[in-house]
Amino acid sequence: MTTTHCPYCALQCAMHVDPTPDGRWAVRPAEFPTNKGGLCRKGWTAGELLTSQERLTAPLVRPRRGAPLEPTDWDTALETVGTRLADLQAQYGPNAVAVFGGGGLTNEKCYLLGKFARLALGTSRIDYNGRFCMSSAAAAGLRAFGLDRGLPFPVTDLAGAQTVLLAGANPAETMPPLMQHLNRSRLIVVDPRRTPTAERAVASGGLHLAPRPGTDTALALGLLHAAHAQRLVDRTYIAARTTGFEQAWSHAAEWWPEQVEHVTGVPADLVREAAQALGSAAAEGGAYVLTGRGTEQHASGTDTATAWINLALALGLPGREGRGYGCLTGQGNGQGGREHGQKADQLPGYRRIDDPESRRIVSEVWGTDPDALPPAGDSAYELLASLGEADGPRALLLFGSNPAVSAPHASHVRERLSATELLVVADCVLSETAGMADVVFPVAQWAEETGTMTNLEGRVLLRNQVAPPPDGVRTDLHVLAGLAHHLGQPTERFPTDADEVLAELRAVTAGAPADYSGVTRERLEAGASLHWPAPAEGTSHPRLFVEEFAHPDGRARFVPVAHHPPSETPDAQFPLVLTTGRAMGHYQSGAQTRRIEELSRAEPDAYVEVHPDTAATYGLLQDDWARLVSRRGAMLARVRTRTAIRRDTVFVPFHFGGAQTANDLTNPALDPTSRMPEFKTAAVRLGPASPP
Ligand code: SF4
Repeated sequence: MTTTHCPYCALQCAMHVDPTPDGRWAVRPAEFPTNKGGLCRKGWTAGELLTSQERLTAPLVRPRRGAPLEPTDWDTALETVGTRLADLQAQYGPNAVAVFGGGGLTNEKCYLLGKFARLALGTSRIDYNGRFCMSSAAAAGLRAFGLDRGLPFPVTDLAGAQTVLLAGANPAETMPPLMQHLNRSRLIVVDPRRTPTAERAVASGGLHLAPRPGTDTALALGLLHAAHAQRLVDRTYIAARTTGFEQAWSHAAEWWPEQVEHVTGVPADLVREAAQALGSAAAEGGAYVLTGRGTEQHASGTDTATAWINLALALGLPGREGRGYGCLTGQGNGQGGREHGQKADQLPGYRRIDDPESRRIVSEVWGTDPDALPPAGDSAYELLASLGEADGPRALLLFGSNPAVSAPHASHVRERLSATELLVVADCVLSETAGMADVVFPVAQWAEETGTMTNLEGRVLLRNQVAPPPDGVRTDLHVLAGLAHHLGQPTERFPTDADEVLAELRAVTAGAPADYSGVTRERLEAGASLHWPAPAEGTSHPRLFVEEFAHPDGRARFVPVAHHPPSETPDAQFPLVLTTGRAMGHYQSGAQTRRIEELSRAEPDAYVEVHPDTAATYGLLQDDWARLVSRRGAMLARVRTRTAIRRDTVFVPFHFGGAQTANDLTNPALDPTSRMPEFKTAAVRLGPASPP
C-alpha cells in the first residue's frame, strides 16, 4: 500500500493505492485534513488510468504533415525536436519557440519548465493553462492583500463559520469532500444555476442568488450597499486594517437593491436578506466569502473578484480568526503552478519577472546574467492565437495541457496549432492536442513519479510514487533534460531527479513571497504541515494576514470597481447566454477522465442544460440532440431540461472534444489585468440537430 494524493483537483485528497490480484490498482480514501477520509467519484476511479490500454508507451513522430504518427525511440524523438528547435531559433530568433505548461504539473516540473524556457531556449514566450483558471482572483488578491494564496487559511477553519457565501463556486459537484467543512454553516450561493451546492444551501435554510451571467460585480456592489444601509460594515476593522474604503464605497453607493434587481435579476429583498445574513454572521459567529471560476472567468474577472474582496473587507473578514476571504483553486497544482516560473510574468517563488532584484537572485542560482533572462511574454490565449503568425512562434512545446479543447475559441486555437512548423506534446495519452502534434513524448502520470504539489490552502504536499512508469515511458523532467542537452546546456543544469530539482527550487525561492526554502522531502514524509511561506528555519504559515497584510503599510486595499456588462450580450441572432463549467464526473478537458470507464459511462457526451420553457421555444425535448451556435463556432449537445436554470441562460460542460467542444463557442475577450478570457458568458442560439 502506498499513500499519495489524487491526480485531479486542488483539494488534493489523500488516498491509499493498492495493487489488485489482476494487475490493476485500487484506490481507497486516506485521512487528510482536506478530505477527512472522503473522495469523490473521480478519486475513487483514479487507479484505472494507470493500466489504461490508451497509455502511450513509445514516442511518436509524424514523418510529414498529414501522415499518421509513427512510434520511434527516445533518442530519435529528442534529437529530432532538439535539432528542429535549434534550426528555428537560428533562423527566426529565440522567440520562435513557445512553451505552454499546466496547472496539474508538480512544482518541480513547473520550475524546470520555466527554467528551460528562459535559460535553454531564451524565449519570453511561456505561459500555462492556469491563466484560464484563477488568474483573475490571483490579480485581485495581489492588489488587495499584496500576496495571492488561494485560501489564506486551512480549509478546516471553515467548519466553525456561521455563514459562508460561495460566489461562482460549486464544490458539491467539483470537489465534494470539501462540503464536509461546510456542513454546519448557513450557505449563500451565488450562481445562475441551481447547482447541487445551491440545492444544498436552500435545503438547509440558506439562500440561492441567481444573477444573470456576467452581472456578479453589480450583485457584490449591491450586497455592500445593503450591508452599509443595515449598518453592518465594520468601521473599526476598516479604520485599523485597510485603506481606500471611501473610494470603493462611492462605487457601491449607487447600487440600491432595486437597481441590483434590475441589472442582475436577483430580487431586491433577497439582496437585503443575504447582506443581513452575511453581515450579522461576520459580527457574531463568523463568516467567509469564497469565490470560484464563475467569478473570475470574465473579461472583467479581476474587478469582479475585487468586488467580492471589497465586500469581505467591509465586513471585517480577511485576516481574522473564524473569518476570511478565499478563492477555491481548481487544478491540482493551480497554486504551485503559478508560483514557480511557468507564468509569463513571474519567476520562481512568485517573484515578478520585471523586478531587478528577483532577476539577480534567480540568474545567480541559474548561473547566468540577469540581462540574459527574457522579459515577460504574452498571456496564454495571446500566445496560442499568435502561433504561426509572421511574428509569432513557429514551434510550440506543450506539457500537461490540452488547449485544443480547453482554450477559448478553441476552433481558432486548433487552426493556430496547425499553423506551427513544429508542435510537440508531452502527455500520457493521445489527447486532442497530442493527436495534432508532430512529436509526442509519452510521459509518466501522477502515481508513477514523486513530486510536490501545493493545494488550495497553500499547503505543500508530497505526491508519492506508487509504481514505476511502464517501459518506454519517461518523466517530463527527462524530456526537458534531453532537449536541454540537444540545445547545448550542461547536464547539471537540468536534473532528472525530482529531489534535485526541489533542492534548487528551495534555494531560488529563499526570501521570496512564496518561500519554499524549508520544504524538504524529509519534513513532508514526516507529515509536517507546510503552508508557504515556509522558510528554511522551519516555520509554516497556515494563516496569513493575521497581524498584517503584505503591502508595505501592512494594510489591505479597497480597490474601487464598477460593474461592466459582458463583452457580448444576447440579441435577435444570438438570443441566449451560454455559460460553461464542470460536471461531477470529469476533470478539465476530460483527457484523463473520459478514458475511465465508470466516468465515461456516467457522462458520455456533452449536454446542454436548458429551462424546459426555453427548450420548447426552440422545438427541443429532454435527450434530443441540439446545435448551439455562437459568433465563433458551433457544437452538438444532448438536451437536459431543468427548471433550475434561468430561462435566458444555457449551460454546457467543457470536458468534451470533437463536435462537442464547448470552447468552440466561448469568447476570447480578455481581462485587461489578468488576461483571463471570458469563458462564462457568450451569446448563442439553440436549435434541433441530428446525432453526431
Ligand atoms: Fe478529491 Fe478533487 Fe480528487 Fe475528487 S477530484 S478525490 S475532490 S482531489
